[in-house]
Amino acid sequence: MSPPPTKTRRGAPSFEPRVRRGVVRIAGDIATRLRAGHPYLFREALGGRPLREPAGATIDLVDEAGEFVARGLYDPDGVVALRVITRDADEPIAAAAVERRVNAARRLREQLMPKQGMTAYRVLHGEGDGLPGVTVDRYGDHLVVHLFSPALEPLREWLYDALEAAWKPKSIYEQRRFKPLAGDAPRGPATLARGELAPVEIEVEEYGVKFVIDVTAPLGTGLFLDLREGRRVVAEHAAGKRVLNLFSYTGAFSVWAARAGAKEIVSVDLATKAHGRARRNLQVNGFSEAGHEFIPGDAFKVLARMSERKRSFDLIVLDPPSFSQAKGRVFSVQKDYRELVEAALEVTAPGALVACVSNTMKVSSEELDRAIGEASVRARRMVRIVERRGLPADFPVAAGFHEGHYLKFFLCAVV
Ligand code: SAH
Repeated sequence: MSPPPTKTRRGAPSFEPRVRRGVVRIAGDIATRLRAGHPYLFREALGGRPLREPAGATIDLVDEAGEFVARGLYDPDGVVALRVITRDADEPIAAAAVERRVNAARRLREQLMPKQGMTAYRVLHGEGDGLPGVTVDRYGDHLVVHLFSPALEPLREWLYDALEAAWKPKSIYEQRRFKPLAGDAPRGPATLARGELAPVEIEVEEYGVKFVIDVTAPLGTGLFLDLREGRRVVAEHAAGKRVLNLFSYTGAFSVWAARAGAKEIVSVDLATKAHGRARRNLQVNGFSEAGHEFIPGDAFKVLARMSERKRSFDLIVLDPPSFSQAKGRVFSVQKDYRELVEAALEVTAPGALVACVSNTMKVSSEELDRAIGEASVRARRMVRIVERRGLPADFPVAAGFHEGHYLKFFLCAVV
């Protein structure tokens, strides 16, 4: 399959990337990175020269010596120009390749996920399961597929065929999350791709704790599956505690704290609607609302008010959105995390635990650590990181794809 070796001028600053239609030559360092497991060719690696291939075109990457490196699908618009589907020169991007990856992903879940009390988990995690740009989540009998690029269009139907065969779902919903070069496109509701319409409420279980989710919701089904290990850590330490759950959304941390026997649980979120869903989640588990407080409002304002009233907590969860513009306030993790931790420390009892979560590739572990460290010095509190958690087993990260570890969860002990 590999094209004949091509002569290149060593060290030439700008070689012609295109060898012939469907074949692109890449620089040595990029070939090395891809050969070490990295699943993307970034647009900048093309040296600013667009290829004429349409979205979804199959492209072979070759190194400077013309040796085959990888084969993937082309995206003419995104930051990621090519998603690697195979490193086997003899494997075409076709139904069989997709089926192999879906089945391997299924075997991994069978091996690693609990057999009982677990009906919501990721059944295919893009890069980590060999299909970059595609995620598939299971919620009971239903599957929700996220497609992150128009480049994946050619394998859509193969994917749905393979998912139907492997999982026998009642429905497959599709959510397109194509990102233009600048900004986020608004998301529409998920659309039904296969099967029959799902009910508005679906009850799922996570280690036996129940959650009500909506597979069609544009901005999230109501349960962030990737935070599962963080919820378990919070539950381990919540018994008898006064818990403050900031950015509580549908109350997943609050429900887990309730199950663990927390004394008092305060959930804070801008969205009143989210509190309604949190209450519903308590209800389906048979947990009473006694000891629960649901505060609608901006986390910073609520913290300031609590601090004035000298309220304090033994366990605090900080899980802000990576970016939100709700009701006029712009929250960016990079800028505001330090300020958030500092404000939270004002209501942190001596000896309390604070869980700091960040779920974006844009903030590294080091940056999060620094933000917490700066906040601790400013607030004159000693903060130690006592536990770290990351993605659960159903979110496998390919070796060689370091950015893939996007979720950071630090449990901090505060003096
Ligand atoms: N911690 C949640 C997920 C948080 S999602 C969980 O475990 O599932 C982010 C939430 O932050 C959203 O529900 C959004 O309404 C809320 N939010 C955004 N900006 C906020 C602010 N300034 N103050 C309080 N809540 C905010």
